[in-house]
Amino acid sequence: MGLVVQKFGGTSVGSSERIQNVANRVIEEKAAGNDVVVVVSAMGKTTDELVSLSKELNENPSKREMDMLLTTGEQITISLLSLALQAKGHDAVSLTGWQAGMKTEEVHGNARITNIETVRIKQYLKENKIVVVAGFQGITENNEITTLGRGGSDTTAVALAAALEAEKCDIYTDVTGVYTTDPRYVKGARKLNSISYDEMLELANLGAGVLHPRAVEFAKNYEVKLEVRSSLEKERGTIIKEEAEMEDNLLVRGIAFEDNISRVTVIGMEDDIYTLPSIFSLLAKHHINVDIIVQSVTSAKSAVSFSVKTEELQRTLSVLEAQKRNLQYEEVEHENGLSKVSIVGSGMVSNPGVAAKMFEVLQDSKVQVKMVSTSEIKVSTVVVQKDMVKAVEALHETFELTNERVGK
Ligand code: ADP
Ligand code: ASP
Ligand code: MG
Repeated sequence: MGLVVQKFGGTSVGSSERIQNVANRVIEEKAAGNDVVVVVSAMGKTTDELVSLSKELNENPSKREMDMLLTTGEQITISLLSLALQAKGHDAVSLTGWQAGMKTEEVHGNARITNIETVRIKQYLKENKIVVVAGFQGITENNEITTLGRGGSDTTAVALAAALEAEKCDIYTDVTGVYTTDPRYVKGARKLNSISYDEMLELANLGAGVLHPRAVEFAKNYEVKLEVRSSLEKERGTIIKEEAEMEDNLLVRGIAFEDNISRVTVIGMEDDIYTLPSIFSLLAKHHINVDIIVQSVTSAKSAVSFSVKTEELQRTLSVLEAQKRNLQYEEVEHENGLSKVSIVGSGMVSNPGVAAKMFEVLQDSKVQVKMVSTSEIKVSTVVVQKDMVKAVEALHETFELTNERVGK
């Protein structure tokens, strides 16, 4: 007996039948003697539809108004779920982000949670109510409504679990757990029994959309017991914890991928100590997120390549063009239609040769590697988009993730 935070994502609350199903899952948890706080996302594709609607009226909408618009999606779900719970004879109360005390920094579109004032939630729990909180939203010191980034309801749930010192946080979604790779793309993908916070954080940051990276960060920092599981199937999901079980000592635990990547190359700057800082402080000043960076030098001239999200490409090129005289480069090239494919596993730390093996597999599959970056527990490669799934499948096979032994 204790406090449990349950989070249900968009597909899981996508219709009135699905909301009935969620209400039943909530009631089961309550009937087991737990206090329950439920976090929900907007129904189905509501958030995407609201984004499209805004684009019909304004090509370049202000971030403040987008937050005002997108937060309505979750507000619909909290009230509907509370109504469903009440109809089933349970005392439920819905709270928007600000009512739940979810304080964020003053940033629209991708705000970080700074603090949660839990007094109101605790009072309702004391009154034995089921508390239903809108995911993905918060409020600033100046009472501005903010959102936490796409997929941010996960973060609401884990942050609440940390602040309320919940026994566990269950993330209910449309797959039965965290898989070795996205099961929608790779048939042989297998569910993992457990995964470490660090590995999950890498996978989430590298494109595995099953959990929001900041949710994993919160879980790691506050040691929240986290489980990803299905809202429809009753089977056990994947536990995310400090140390995952070493299932057969596999070097790679999972593979993540992300498309719509572009590569930009700045050619012909002098090769001196100013080259890198001048390019990257300029981009940072314009809040352009750069990912992989590669520099090569030939006859004292440098070529600096870096990757950005394709949606940032035009802005990146404009910023560089505007500073051509200052930077004194010869030309800027770019390439679109790229993807990033990454292998992740804490077993890599003490095993050299994992990157080499990855390159060999890609070579055997005739996949050209355009850029590389590594950390202790991951290797990322940039490849052309049309090769992405082929590369993931080949790596999945070679690193024995398809093997029956995994995820038993
Ligand atoms: P929700 O709406 O419940 O938050 P999401 O769509 O955000 O659901 O996340 C679940 C989806 O994440 C799955 O449908 C799956 O396609 C995708 N996904 C990507 N990588 C993985 C992975 N490694 N394991 C499981 N699911 C993954
Ligand atoms: N509704 C938001 C989104 O679609 C938040 C979430 O689902 O987590 O991104
Ligand atoms: Mg999600």
